[in-house]
Amino acid sequence: MRMSKLFVQTLREFPSDAEVISHKLLVRAGYIRKLANGIYNYLPLMWRVLKKVENIVREEMDAAGAQELLMPFVQPAELWQESGRWDVYGKELMRLKDRHTREMCLGPTHEEVITSIGREGIHSYKQLPVNLYQIQSKFRDEIRPRFGLLRGREFIMKDAYSFDADEAGLDKSYEIMAEAYRKIFERCGLETKMVQSDSGAIGGSVSHEFMVLVNEDAESNAGENDVFYCPECGYSANSNHAVSVLKEVQTDGKFEKAQIIDTPNTKTIEELAKFLNINASVICKTLIYVVDGKYVAAMIRGDRTIEETKLMNVFAGNDIRIARNDEIEEIMKDSGLNAIAGFIGPKGLKNIQIVADETVKSLKNFVIGCNQTDKHLVGANWGVDVELPQTIKDICLVEKDDKCIHCGANLKVTKGIEVGNIFKLGTKYSKAMNATFTDKDGQEKPFIMGCYGIGISRTAAAAVERHHDEHGIKWPLAIAPYTVIVVPVSDRDEVQMKMAEDIYKKLCDNKVEALIDDRAERAGVKLKDADLIGIPYRITIGKDIKDNLVEFKTRADDVTELITPDEAVKRILAL
Ligand code: ATP
Ligand code: MG
Repeated sequence: MRMSKLFVQTLREFPSDAEVISHKLLVRAGYIRKLANGIYNYLPLMWRVLKKVENIVREEMDAAGAQELLMPFVQPAELWQESGRWDVYGKELMRLKDRHTREMCLGPTHEEVITSIGREGIHSYKQLPVNLYQIQSKFRDEIRPRFGLLRGREFIMKDAYSFDADEAGLDKSYEIMAEAYRKIFERCGLETKMVQSDSGAIGGSVSHEFMVLVNEDAESNAGENDVFYCPECGYSANSNHAVSVLKEVQTDGKFEKAQIIDTPNTKTIEELAKFLNINASVICKTLIYVVDGKYVAAMIRGDRTIEETKLMNVFAGNDIRIARNDEIEEIMKDSGLNAIAGFIGPKGLKNIQIVADETVKSLKNFVIGCNQTDKHLVGANWGVDVELPQTIKDICLVEKDDKCIHCGANLKVTKGIEVGNIFKLGTKYSKAMNATFTDKDGQEKPFIMGCYGIGISRTAAAAVERHHDEHGIKWPLAIAPYTVIVVPVSDRDEVQMKMAEDIYKKLCDNKVEALIDDRAERAGVKLKDADLIGIPYRITIGKDIKDNLVEFKTRADDVTELITPDEAVKRILAL
């Protein structure tokens, strides 16, 4: 392709609305343009990258025995009503009505559709296992679309779904997908970590995420997930699922007599600990949440933080948020109490479910809210002054330097971008939608299913997060839009131009994806653009051509060498 013809407009400046480097660079280098919030045009360079990622995914999925199909983007509400998700999916699901006022939605994922396909097409255990996948645009009306392609509203996903006759079959399908994913991301030039992750409230289910780790202190703050991992034994998990042996702290407080005392203006744990001159770890804190519209009180030791996904799962919820002050007021009124946030305790709360984290159990002579503003109960003990809640669960967020539950080493934490996940669904959808097959023994059984997603567009953006410098993108070769760019320094120098054209022709004749920068631009502009766009190799033809030498640059490490044109072509052909 000739740069003079290529549809690309590079910009001098980063876009003002971009927060992360992949978003900044993809816009500035002319790969994407925003159409609406979270909705992007993939311009020709981007589309080439996406097709490369897609093809790697396709090749590995096919090699793993999965079959590609394409399901409709628009789906009827009936299927979602059958699975029960129409009411619980929330606002991320873009709902619409057709001209007959039938309710439809834009596909955010396709469990319902694939389950209906399995239901109609698979009747006998003899047809199993089956793994079907598609590569398609998805739409999710994300609450916070941001970071360009990393979290869009419309994005491209590969989604695969496996059907098996039993758990052992699912285990196998799952392992095959895990292996395919490892190969896919490696081929894309991305190092990933497979981490345990939350799988919602479906009992006994298992899921893993593939994370591209991004350094917290780097300019990139694109990693939306905290990943805890053990440097010794390899345990790793998303913070929403991670468990640990907690650091030892003081749990026996200094107040020996239970009494309510004044603690003015101590709305936060820090203020309270400071006022009483005690450690936060001898305070029991109570927070009010709203899970699927219902109030919930959650208790945890004062030095620790509640993990909201864990808490939500206790109630099999889909949505969680901390209660607003006016809601707390309402709860207090209902219970005949009167306290503001910061002074809440479990005693006397009515019509509200209470769950306590494991950490509160061992507290003695502790401090706790007593539902009176500016007061706390000190020297409290379970069973004597306050009842220990009946529901005790792990709802605690792991912290760095907690100990690994497997080997006792100190856990570390890092930020990660989730580029893919694999999920054992079990019979969640097959049971709800009555999708069954006849097993060996003649019995009708629901399919045991798994689902497996990869964000195609997110993977491309994650590659930019990992591979760039201050001058631009450094695409991994396998997903670069072009392999090499041939740059004559002066378009008015006939010798240079002829050599550039010769090299370009040789490359094209050998089916190399090559660019030639034949634009009437200054050398500086051309070289800058080549770096910005991030083509892995550059062959620059300048004044050294009189000695039959060209500059060969590898963008990954920015190493340049002077070699003959023949050698340059040979090196590219050898890739
Ligand atoms: P997240 O936790 O990041 O919202 P998810 O758990 O909702 O992801 P899935 O529903 O499992 O994601 O989708 C499969 C894959 O699709 C994800 O691993 C991710 O790579 C990609 N993906 C999900 N949401 C988006 C989005 N808004 N923009 C781009 N890619 C996305
Ligand atoms: Mg999501």
